[in-house]
Amino acid sequence: MTLLMTVCADCGVSYFPARLRCHRCGGYQFLDQAVYTARVSGVVPVHRVPEDCPWHCLVELQTEAGVTVMAVAQVPPTLHSLVPITQQADGAVFIPSH
Ligand SMILES: [Zn+2]
Repeated sequence: MTLLMTVCADCGVSYFPARLRCHRCGGYQFLDQAVYTARVSGVVPVHRVPEDCPWHCLVELQTEAGVTVMAVAQVPPTLHSLVPITQQADGAVFIPSH
Protein backbone atom coordinates (compact mmCIF):
# COMPACT_ATOMS: atom_id res chain seq x y z
CA MET A 1 0.00 0.00 0.00
CA THR A 2 1.37 3.39 -0.97
CA LEU A 3 2.19 5.83 1.81
CA LEU A 4 0.05 8.95 1.42
CA MET A 5 0.80 12.38 2.84
CA THR A 6 -1.98 14.92 3.00
CA VAL A 7 -1.14 18.34 1.60
CA CYS A 8 -3.12 21.46 2.49
CA ALA A 9 -4.81 22.68 -0.69
CA ASP A 10 -4.56 26.30 0.51
CA CYS A 11 -0.97 26.68 1.74
CA GLY A 12 0.82 23.47 0.67
CA VAL A 13 1.94 22.20 4.08
CA SER A 14 2.25 18.38 4.22
CA TYR A 15 1.04 16.22 7.08
CA PHE A 16 1.39 12.62 8.16
CA PRO A 17 -0.75 11.32 9.66
CA ALA A 18 -3.64 13.24 8.12
CA ARG A 19 -5.15 16.25 9.93
CA LEU A 20 -8.69 17.51 9.96
CA ARG A 21 -7.52 21.14 9.82
CA CYS A 22 -4.30 22.79 8.67
CA HIS A 23 -2.27 24.10 11.61
CA ARG A 24 -0.69 26.85 9.48
CA CYS A 25 -3.65 28.41 7.65
CA GLY A 26 -6.74 26.80 9.18
CA GLY A 27 -7.81 25.24 5.88
CA TYR A 28 -9.97 22.13 5.67
CA GLN A 29 -9.19 21.01 2.11
CA PHE A 30 -6.41 18.47 1.62
CA LEU A 31 -4.92 16.59 -1.32
CA ASP A 32 -3.22 13.19 -1.20
CA GLN A 33 0.44 12.98 -2.17
CA ALA A 34 2.07 9.57 -2.67
CA VAL A 35 5.50 9.09 -1.12
CA TYR A 36 7.70 6.26 -2.34
CA THR A 37 11.11 7.01 -0.83
CA ALA A 38 12.60 8.76 2.17
CA ARG A 39 16.05 9.44 3.62
CA VAL A 40 17.16 7.62 6.77
CA SER A 41 17.94 10.06 9.58
CA GLY A 42 18.02 7.62 12.49
CA VAL A 43 18.11 3.89 13.21
CA VAL A 44 17.39 2.21 16.53
CA PRO A 45 17.77 -1.58 16.82
CA VAL A 46 15.13 -3.37 18.88
CA HIS A 47 16.80 -6.01 21.02
CA ARG A 48 13.76 -7.76 22.46
CA VAL A 49 11.44 -8.65 19.60
CA PRO A 50 8.53 -11.09 20.00
CA GLU A 51 9.05 -14.32 18.02
CA ASP A 52 6.29 -13.56 15.51
CA CYS A 53 7.40 -9.95 14.90
CA PRO A 54 9.51 -9.49 11.74
CA TRP A 55 10.60 -5.92 12.56
CA HIS A 56 14.00 -5.61 14.21
CA CYS A 57 14.60 -1.88 14.11
CA LEU A 58 12.86 1.48 14.27
CA VAL A 59 13.84 3.99 11.59
CA GLU A 60 13.40 7.75 11.50
CA LEU A 61 12.85 8.97 7.94
CA GLN A 62 12.80 12.41 6.33
CA THR A 63 10.43 12.65 3.36
CA GLU A 64 10.82 15.10 0.48
CA ALA A 65 7.68 16.81 1.76
CA GLY A 66 9.61 17.80 4.89
CA VAL A 67 7.68 15.44 7.15
CA THR A 68 9.46 13.14 9.59
CA VAL A 69 8.02 9.61 9.63
CA MET A 70 8.79 6.69 11.94
CA ALA A 71 8.97 3.29 10.27
CA VAL A 72 9.98 -0.28 11.04
CA ALA A 73 12.41 -2.49 9.13
CA GLN A 74 13.64 -6.06 9.22
CA VAL A 75 17.23 -5.07 8.49
CA PRO A 76 18.81 -1.79 9.66
CA PRO A 77 19.21 0.58 6.69
CA THR A 78 22.33 2.69 6.20
CA LEU A 79 22.15 6.12 7.82
CA HIS A 80 21.47 8.92 5.27
CA SER A 81 20.56 6.43 2.53
CA LEU A 82 17.45 6.81 0.37
CA VAL A 83 15.10 3.87 0.98
CA PRO A 84 11.74 2.75 -0.39
CA ILE A 85 8.83 3.09 2.03
CA THR A 86 5.34 1.70 2.03
CA GLN A 87 2.45 1.24 4.43
CA GLN A 88 0.60 -1.80 5.71
CA ALA A 89 -3.19 -1.94 5.75
CA ASP A 90 -3.10 -1.41 9.53
CA GLY A 91 -1.26 1.90 9.03
CA ALA A 92 2.27 0.83 9.99
CA VAL A 93 4.97 2.38 7.81
CA PHE A 94 7.82 0.05 6.89
CA ILE A 95 10.88 -0.34 4.72
CA PRO A 96 10.28 -3.40 2.53
CA SER A 97 13.00 -6.03 2.35
CA HIS A 98 14.27 -6.97 -1.07
ZN1 LIG B 1 -2.79 25.27 5.09
